[in-house]
Amino acid sequence: MTDSTARAPAFDVQRIRADFPLLSRQVHGKPLVYFDNANTSQKPRQVIEAVDRHYREHNANVARAVHQLGEEATSAYEGARDALARFVNAPSRNEVVLTSGTTHAVNLVAYSYALPMLKPGDAILTTVMEHHANIVPWQLVATRSGATVKAAPIDERGELLVERYIEMLTPEVKLACVTHVSNVLGTVNPVREIARACRKRGIPLLVDGSQAVPHRPVDVQALGCDFYVVTGHKMLAPTGTGMLWAKKEHLDAMPPFFGGGEMIREVKFSGTTFADPPHKFEAGTPNIAGFAGMAAAIDYYRTLGFDAIRRHEAALLEYATARLREIPGLRIIGEAADKEPVISFLLDGAQATDLATLLDLQGVAVRSGHHCAHPLMQFYGVPATLRASLAFYNTLEEVDAFVAALLKVRKLLM
Ligand code: PMP
Repeated sequence: MTDSTARAPAFDVQRIRADFPLLSRQVHGKPLVYFDNANTSQKPRQVIEAVDRHYREHNANVARAVHQLGEEATSAYEGARDALARFVNAPSRNEVVLTSGTTHAVNLVAYSYALPMLKPGDAILTTVMEHHANIVPWQLVATRSGATVKAAPIDERGELLVERYIEMLTPEVKLACVTHVSNVLGTVNPVREIARACRKRGIPLLVDGSQAVPHRPVDVQALGCDFYVVTGHKMLAPTGTGMLWAKKEHLDAMPPFFGGGEMIREVKFSGTTFADPPHKFEAGTPNIAGFAGMAAAIDYYRTLGFDAIRRHEAALLEYATARLREIPGLRIIGEAADKEPVISFLLDGAQATDLATLLDLQGVAVRSGHHCAHPLMQFYGVPATLRASLAFYNTLEEVDAFVAALLKVRKLLM
């Protein structure tokens, strides 16, 4: 079953790959196998061209200019807000705050939503499998307010213990957080069930969607959460783009986090009034070209369709998992029943970093390290894992090349 030629790709992956200029380059004289998509995705020419076009044809600042270029730049930027609102099915474009990424979005909620309302004795609930971006901002505001951060446990397979999470939603918890998909394990968390439990207890829920949006359609209304954060660079868009979606009631109540231009209604030394959300949270000149690229990225997903993406990625995950399981001494970390195509693993007798370095010389880009998830590494009692994270533009043949390279470099280390 482990011959890639026996399995037909679910869609025309070669045609899709032709849209990604970087995928055809060589690394160390070998064809690139890019399996570091959970770190950042590659960009299709449609996104690259949208950024290029912005600077060549439309460059101006947003909202401040009445001239034609200013209007074009503003419409590109605001167009990305519309595109993102549709992408996650937000009830209103005014609930979409454009940010530089997930880290910015979580910190915005931490400092603007959580910090003003946290009191000593309060708690924020997160999980052991979170990226540091969904842990450290909560610790920072907890330290300032006398609150604490609690973490719900997972099991050895890398699945969240949902019952424990729900039991931990005690009255002192003022905000609950969970990642939609783990960047290390690939685990998909049952966000709807968690959101239902949070709503019953009147606890707002923040979901980190960084690793979900590249792989699956997201509907924030169906999920039933309060906050949903996204980073652009993992979903084909330029770096320095992202989003906080939050329910209107929260955005209305939240004070601004950054102050400056664009976010005000009137500034007087006797007192400044602020713009309505989302602009209240968007001080300063944003990444306009980046958001022009973001709109193109969302278009790209729409053209491909998540049904086709999901079928192809499921085939990749199944095949890659089966091929890796054939390797003696290889241990996969993260075997949840519901997984996106992210495979963390360890190989007996070899350091993850040495393997990643040698794989790079074979043209294979994977990530080694703690993946900004120290508590998860502590849970598994390992300092690092090797992680192969796949995207819809990867192929079964690349999986074969990756496994062949892994077997070759492993010999070098033995
Ligand atoms: N959360 C998760 C689950 C992630 O994978 C990442 C990026 N590795 C982040 C948050 C942080 O995203 P960014 O650095 O783009 O803000």
